[in-house]
Amino acid sequence: MQKRKYGMNSSKLKISVFFIIAFMLFVGANPHKKVKKPKRAKKVVLTPFQKLKKEYLVYKNSSHTNKDVEVFKGYILKFEKFNNSNKEEEALQSKYYVADINEKLFELTQDKSYLNKAFEIYLRLSKYLDSYGLASQKKVELLKNKVNPQEEQLVSQNDIPKANKISLLGINHSANTSFSQVVIELDGEGVFEDRYLKAEAENSKPERIVIDLKNATYSNVKQLEPLIIQDDIIDRVRVGQFSPEILRIVLDLKQFSRYEAVFAKEPYRIIVNIYGKNAVSPAPKGALKTDGELTKKDVVSNNVKLPVKLIVIDMGHGAHDPGAIGYKGLKEKDVTLDIGLKLGEIIKKNFPQIEVVHTRKDDTFLKLEERAAVANSKKADLFISIHANASKNKDAHGIETYFLNFAKEERAKEVVARENASSIEGVDEVQEILKDLIVSSKYNESSMLAAMIQKNLVNRIRLEYKDVADLGVKQGPFYVLLGAAMPSVLVETAFISNPNEAMRLADDNYRYKVAEGIFEGVKEYILKANYASLSK
Ligand SMILES: [Zn+2]
Repeated sequence: MQKRKYGMNSSKLKISVFFIIAFMLFVGANPHKKVKKPKRAKKVVLTPFQKLKKEYLVYKNSSHTNKDVEVFKGYILKFEKFNNSNKEEEALQSKYYVADINEKLFELTQDKSYLNKAFEIYLRLSKYLDSYGLASQKKVELLKNKVNPQEEQLVSQNDIPKANKISLLGINHSANTSFSQVVIELDGEGVFEDRYLKAEAENSKPERIVIDLKNATYSNVKQLEPLIIQDDIIDRVRVGQFSPEILRIVLDLKQFSRYEAVFAKEPYRIIVNIYGKNAVSPAPKGALKTDGELTKKDVVSNNVKLPVKLIVIDMGHGAHDPGAIGYKGLKEKDVTLDIGLKLGEIIKKNFPQIEVVHTRKDDTFLKLEERAAVANSKKADLFISIHANASKNKDAHGIETYFLNFAKEERAKEVVARENASSIEGVDEVQEILKDLIVSSKYNESSMLAAMIQKNLVNRIRLEYKDVADLGVKQGPFYVLLGAAMPSVLVETAFISNPNEAMRLADDNYRYKVAEGIFEGVKEYILKANYASLSK
């Protein structure tokens, strides 16, 4: 199976993440305090620029009508005062926010001159190697199509009545060299029409498959930027509201021989199978109903090529970074190392053809940004970061699995702050800045992997420890996952701060069961990916 290519190479990413971390330190993070963080001082003295930024972000995140245009324009003037600040950070950040406000003004007024202005500023800032440069790069990618609109995006979402419409939930993709599959996930039964359009050289349009979904909207999808696929068959997938009634999904192709599009239920989805020119045989009959039921015969034998070829296991912390220190002085770094090594052995035993790479094999230290970089440089297919949880509340207990997204709850922010070695405020800040990076991560695959690991891990542990709490799948902007080009998750295997769970974490048997549980989740993912990609 091929990996989707994303914008950043690993060295660029390394530099970028370095700046993010540097920025976090700048906004008041403290990398050394772990579990027992003293209460933050009540009065933090903000510079005039920090004050303005804070005030603006609060204002921006409240709801607005086009009556607020003047207020936003006022903020442009306020930020522009810092454009020539002799503090480089302030100068750059103030420009970023001027662009951000222009984008907001476009949203409120639909006046394209604001959008063009924002685009210009982002384009200039995107050359800088700091977190704002990085965020600007992403903005440039997102806005390109809006600045030069496409045929598919003709109707504003606001013009569409939402009642009784089905919604697009997401788009998944998998491929090998001669076959590509796109799964369009919906929240209800849809009626669609599909057709093939020839390339139009004069309009520089490639050959494409168009799927028109009737009575549908994209209201549940956060972003409408094209999904860059770039496998051997598909270049990218674009989505747009073609008319108030019709949601149009366009697959821009590189080459193909034939395709089929079918509707499937449970969950509702349209499956588009596209066969390349060198496809040997058509897909097996069963391929169209990927209903998630995997039988023993789906279990792959050693000579079958798996879509997952390389897994990177990241053992949290190490050396001078002990991670959370728990009951009786048990250190998170030792627990994660052992579980990670065990997990690697179990994977190798069950899937000898899969390569396993550990970010560390002993008590050494790696920076957070180096860990995903290992996975990117190895072109890993999965990235699993192993941790142990901690809380000031000694009673807190259970297992939870995270994937990269915005933190939705306070508790998740606490976990992110601890693992990122930052403050809670730092988590809010990074969410704001890195919005686009987070949104463009492998959201679907990562959430699926997280769900499978969480379910299997809890089930495995419950066979012996009935009281274990299932805290579920959660989301947060973890640095260690940020920029990973493959599906990636962070597993909090138990609370090291809870005396009962710390005793388990210190126990070889529990660690082995955790490794087995994670493996069961990974296996379910691999088999499902294999089933979907038809790499036979
Ligand atoms: Zn940790």
